Amino acid sequence: MKKPLVLVFFVQFIVMIFASTALAAPELKMIAPGVFALVGGEGRANSGFVVTDDGVVVIDTQGPPELAMLLREKIKETTDKPVTHVLNTHYHGDHTFGNQYFAEAVIIAHENTRRALIDKDEAHRTMFKKFFGEDSLKGFSLTLPAVTFNDRMTLRVGGRTIELVHPWPIAHTDGDIFVWLPAERVVFAGDLLYNGRLPLLNDGGTAGALKALELITLTEASVLVPGHGPVSVMGDVAGYRGFIEALRTEAGALIDRGALREEVVSQVKASGYSEWLMYKEWLPANAGKVFDELMAERKNRIEQDR
Ligand SMILES: [Zn+2]
Repeated sequence: MKKPLVLVFFVQFIVMIFASTALAAPELKMIAPGVFALVGGEGRANSGFVVTDDGVVVIDTQGPPELAMLLREKIKETTDKPVTHVLNTHYHGDHTFGNQYFAEAVIIAHENTRRALIDKDEAHRTMFKKFFGEDSLKGFSLTLPAVTFNDRMTLRVGGRTIELVHPWPIAHTDGDIFVWLPAERVVFAGDLLYNGRLPLLNDGGTAGALKALELITLTEASVLVPGHGPVSVMGDVAGYRGFIEALRTEAGALIDRGALREEVVSQVKASGYSEWLMYKEWLPANAGKVFDELMAERKNRIEQDR
C-alpha cells in the first residue's frame, strides 16, 4: 500500500511545481524503437534514454530536482530495466545537475566537462540559481562523471552501439559531445543544436558551432534531439546553422564599416529568428560574443599575414 501513496504525493508535487511556475510539462516521445526523448516544456533542456537488453542509457539528467525525478519516473514507466549509464553532453547545470538522481549508473562525459564541473562549480551554481530560483539547489550534491574521454568513444551496451563524438574547436563549451546511434540513425545533439530557441553562446564560439553542425550533418541521422526545442530533422540543423551564419554575416558587415562593439550589439538582428524563444533576451549577448570572436579571427589573420 505504501507505493501508490508515494506516487500520489509525487504526482501532486509535480503538478504543484508546474502549476506554480505556469510551465508546460516535459513531453516523452519515442523516436525509434526503445529510444526516447524527453522534450522540455517551453524550450527547457531535453533529455533522452535508450533501452538496451542490459539496461538503460540516459542522455543528460536535467537540472532542477523535480525535472530529474520526472525523468527517472518516465524511465520507470517505460521499462523495469535499471539505468546503467548516464551520458552528459556538456557541463551546463540544466543537463548535468540531475546526475545525483542516477548515482547507481556509470556517468560518462568528455574530460573537459568533468573539469568544468569542478573548476567552475561556484560560478556555475550562482548562474543556475539565477535561472531556476534561489531554492533550486537545495539538497544538491555535485555528482561527477566517473569515466571520461578526449576525442571519441564507442559504447556497446545490451545489443546497441552508441558513438560519443567530441567536435573541435569549441562549439557550445570545450567539452561538448553529441551522441550518435548509427543503427537507429538517431543523434542526441546536446546544445550543439537548438530548435525554436536561441542559444547563449557565452562559453562557445560560432566557428566551432558551424564545424559541429557539419559533423552532425555527416551522420545522416533521420531524427535529431536538440539540447533545447522539439525533436528535429536535418532541415532543422540547416535552420540553426542559418542563425549562426546570420550572426556572423551581419556582425562581419558592421565591422567592415568600422562599427564599435556596442553598435554591433544593438544592430545585429538575425531577423529570420525573431519568433524563437529568448530572441529578445539573448540576441544582444550573442551579437557581442560574435563581435569579440570575429575581431580575434581578424587579428589572427593579420598576425599570420605579416
Ligand atoms: Zn548548454
